[in-house]
Amino acid sequence: MTPDRNELLRSLPSVSAVLEHEEVRNWQRGVPLPRPSSSCARLRTGLPQSVVAASIQAVLAGLRAAILAGERSEPVELAEVLAQAEAEVLRRSSPSLGPVINATGIVLHTGLGRAPLCEAAVEAIVEGAAGYCNLEYDLSSGHRGRRNVHVAEHLASLTGAESATVVNNNAAATLLILQTFAAGNEVIVSRGQLIEIGGSFRLPDIMRAGGATLREVGTTNRTRIADYEGAINDHTALLLHVHTSNYRVVGFTETVPIGGLAELAHRYGLIAVDDLGSGALFDLSACGLPGEPCVRDSLAGGADLVCFSGDKLLGGPQCGLIVGKQSLVEQLEANPLMRTYRVGKLTLLALEATLRCYREGDEALSQIPALSMLSASADVLAARAKKLAEQLEAAMPDENFYVCSDVGFAGGGSMPAEELQTVVVRWRVGGVSAQSMASALREADVPVIVRIRDDEICFDLRSLQETEFDTLVDSASGALGDSERIANGE
Ligand SMILES: *Cc1c(COP(=O)(O)O)cnc(C)c1O
Repeated sequence: MTPDRNELLRSLPSVSAVLEHEEVRNWQRGVPLPRPSSSCARLRTGLPQSVVAASIQAVLAGLRAAILAGERSEPVELAEVLAQAEAEVLRRSSPSLGPVINATGIVLHTGLGRAPLCEAAVEAIVEGAAGYCNLEYDLSSGHRGRRNVHVAEHLASLTGAESATVVNNNAAATLLILQTFAAGNEVIVSRGQLIEIGGSFRLPDIMRAGGATLREVGTTNRTRIADYEGAINDHTALLLHVHTSNYRVVGFTETVPIGGLAELAHRYGLIAVDDLGSGALFDLSACGLPGEPCVRDSLAGGADLVCFSGDKLLGGPQCGLIVGKQSLVEQLEANPLMRTYRVGKLTLLALEATLRCYREGDEALSQIPALSMLSASADVLAARAKKLAEQLEAAMPDENFYVCSDVGFAGGGSMPAEELQTVVVRWRVGGVSAQSMASALREADVPVIVRIRDDEICFDLRSLQETEFDTLVDSASGALGDSERIANGE
């Protein structure tokens, strides 16, 4: 006979009873743990009692809720409470934000922090983080300085701009520009360029937030210069060109390039702004990558201001860069909102180091991880895949790994229509489904994020660095051990 609800509730131990348990007391004491933890991640000892007690309370509350909802027919065993409490304590006492291995093949993965930084940027952050730096301090005069001077000159010289400034991200850059130059007035944009990036950045919403009125012109697939010209009136403040970063309008199309738009804007005394999104600092087609619009070309074409992200194709830290006419940049910097968008010293340290790599010339390609990953040839990836497959086989001799080619994308709203040839190591997992292995990989000490195809795990070499192979193999063997233990009901 199944026990009734009250009996089940009575089977729940009290918080104090669990706290008194020898094993739980060991978590707090700082002694080696007696039994292997059920998770790949290991439980530390010497944990504060408050964390342990809160975890036990949360676990018991969850079990109670399950009983009340009629989801349980078995009495609660102490061992079950202990196992759940251990997982909960582990979760609460580990940092929430930490490194993961990106085996998805998506190099500019927004969910995984977009561009990994170059070595010089990492060194700059490590050196600068622990102490002070001349962030807003002019060393020659000993007076207060401006934080953006450290990167403005590099940006200007790399793009041919008169001046430059930095904010937190490109969404902020767009908003700041609209708010500074078009609040209370109208902005003309082609219907084909009313973009949405990742759900939270929708151009019409940004326009409203900046206090500007959106004047849509043309149609989704065709906008002509006459459409823009016909919409210009006394309230028009600026003409905005937006790079359709994460989609392409193909087929029967017509758009006005930034050059034509700038010429029209200037004829009417208006400003032409180009939101480039990714913003390549040089012509990436030179290294076999699909042509993305280049910041320098946009300025040369007549754009008064160009804004783009620091952590997309540029391969630097998260920030938004604005380059263009000096008088306009000065107005942006004088806007009180600028103070709310300013970037911190770590961002500026990383950005300056990244830009210095670009200034050294062709070196950029090999030093900036995002660029070297995106431009790696299929042959190079195949050689790395072979090495990774061998390491995985050596660690898990009973499992089946093989190398095969595949297609992937750049991600982060860059090169959306371009399939990138890539190479993956596939893992035909024995025993459990690829789904449950993928979830075990996400729970590893260093989580590994993968793609699944045909119920097989794919480690995509496009977004992996060779220095990560050992960790990846450790995480994978740990995840395999875990899923075997779970399958055996341990
Ligand atoms: C990505 C993108 C943005 C937003 O940039 P964030 O740096 O992510 O804030 C804005 N406009 C375009 C065209 C983009 O591609």
